[in-house]
Amino acid sequence: MTHYICKGGCGGVLEEMGICETDGCANQWQMMEECNCGDGMHGKKEEAPILVVKDSNGTVLKDGDDVVLIKDLPLRGSSTVYKRGTKVMNIKLTDNADEVDCRLDGAAIVLRTEFLKKV
Ligand SMILES: [Zn+2]
Ligand SMILES: [Zn+2]
Repeated sequence: MTHYICKGGCGGVLEEMGICETDGCANQWQMMEECNCGDGMHGKKEEAPILVVKDSNGTVLKDGDDVVLIKDLPLRGSSTVYKRGTKVMNIKLTDNADEVDCRLDGAAIVLRTEFLKKV
């Protein structure tokens, strides 16, 4: 359904053509713009937040980086312990800034970045 939106930053939406009356809005007293979106997003794309992933030293990590473990890490649910100093090749970032995916000894595991150091 057609509606009218203010693009001055106030987020105003009207069902009929009109002007923005919001104090402090950059477009106050200007005509709202016609919009026909059906999802309430008014044509805006939801922007994915930029995820910055850092190792234990605060060095930014990215896909494909190699890291070493700075701590002995027991693998949950098994007797395996990955030793401090173990090199992990080709990490993959995840949606979580505290974790990276990687493969160690052929097993897919998730490592916490606080235990990693970029090499
Ligand atoms: Zn406005
Ligand atoms: Zn809209």
